[in-house]
Amino acid sequence: MQRGSVRVDPPWSLQAWRDAARRGLQANAAPAELDWLHGTDASLLDAPALPEATDDGAAGSVPRAFLELAETCLCHRDPQRMPLLYRMLWRIRHGERALLSNPADADVLRAMAMAQAVRRDSHKMKAFVRFREIPGQADAFIAWFEPDHFIVDRVAPFFARRFAGMRWAILTPYRSAHWDGRTLSFGPGASRQDAPDDDAREDLWRTYYASIFNPARLNTRMMQQEMPARYWRHLPEASLLPSLVRDAAGRVQEMHDRPAQPPSRRIPVRSQLPPAPAGDDHADSLAQLQRQAEGCRQCPLWEPATRTVFGEGPADARVMLVGEQPGDKEDLSGRPFIGPAGQLLDRALQELGIERGQLYMTNAVKHFRYERRGKVRLHQRPDSTHVQACRPWLMGEIARVRPERIVCLGATAASSVFGRGFNLARDRGRWHTLDDGTRGFATVHPSWVLRQSDAGKREAAYQLLVEDLRQLV
Ligand code: SF4
Repeated sequence: MQRGSVRVDPPWSLQAWRDAARRGLQANAAPAELDWLHGTDASLLDAPALPEATDDGAAGSVPRAFLELAETCLCHRDPQRMPLLYRMLWRIRHGERALLSNPADADVLRAMAMAQAVRRDSHKMKAFVRFREIPGQADAFIAWFEPDHFIVDRVAPFFARRFAGMRWAILTPYRSAHWDGRTLSFGPGASRQDAPDDDAREDLWRTYYASIFNPARLNTRMMQQEMPARYWRHLPEASLLPSLVRDAAGRVQEMHDRPAQPPSRRIPVRSQLPPAPAGDDHADSLAQLQRQAEGCRQCPLWEPATRTVFGEGPADARVMLVGEQPGDKEDLSGRPFIGPAGQLLDRALQELGIERGQLYMTNAVKHFRYERRGKVRLHQRPDSTHVQACRPWLMGEIARVRPERIVCLGATAASSVFGRGFNLARDRGRWHTLDDGTRGFATVHPSWVLRQSDAGKREAAYQLLVEDLRQLV
């Protein structure tokens, strides 16, 4: 066949690429005979455009996993992504239906690497976008960000959900996203000067950041890995980092030298409801169970903690994740898995394409156990008495959510769900069946991954977590 061309505009759109691929397939154009043109730029040297596809189903059925992979890959900047995806589609349509099951295939490997780069870039955007107030406009904010790939359309809905109550725009060099409180829209790219540099809230943010910075947890290699220097110029807290890092060792020494103090309660939160045992016939909903747990005094952990941190997620979730106990940030916010370990878990879930919003996430123990050292609250592992005292709440959650699968993160959660004889080192990653038929397994806790002593060990531990969680996919 003579060479032909197809155009994809915008070049990250799955729909536009699918239309173009359909034209190629209908013209029976082999991958080597097809030129892929991006956007609207045209040249006299372009091969003739293929005719529009007719609606005769020439694209045929394509595995859903391929479309998901293609949707992510198309956000990559590599100009070869479109011919690569078409070649894979061509191969699938010519008898290699199981192509994606061969992780050693060069095309699959390359597409997977592109998808991973896009997911990583998306994660960085979620983590490092910082909104600045627009001077003179109440509750209107602008952020500037420089993504590596075409991810604005992909990530903007996340910000629309997270910051639904304010008006904002995210500007990038190639595209901008706008949220007016109700509608998400997109426009052309912008320049750095279009976004405000600083606003009054940033001093507040820096003060807050300095107060929550825990020198005992400082790991500069991990910090550089998680927060590459190129993002620093967008982060108000970046100006603090050199001095916080420089002073960290001295502050840790000072903390160690200081005698331990008994914990003091921070924000008294007392439920108006009398405590009731979980599993009570009257407690027929998660919300009711949660209200009861807010008043729980079954073990001493309630007193120094800020609040009960109950589970979160759809009441009909098919998968439940159980961690150990809330940490400092969870205790202050009342939400599980939002601290550093939760963020690492989010990264693993994203890598696997698992939506956090579809999971019910909770902990074996609902109050934060800690030891106070100066201003810092250091995590302390709960005793088995705390785990046993709190177990009825967890069982109450399981009985109401009725998940098909339960994943325990760490030994504490595993012993609460599978029993005290559970040995994480021996049984990690293996499926178990509970008495009611629910199946589950245990893997390492993300905080254990973060505690590894060097980057190599951390990466290996992280891969362990990802590989175990992959059983859910
Ligand atoms: S940790 Fe559990 S058992 Fe102890 S007070 Fe809190 S909710 Fe009750």
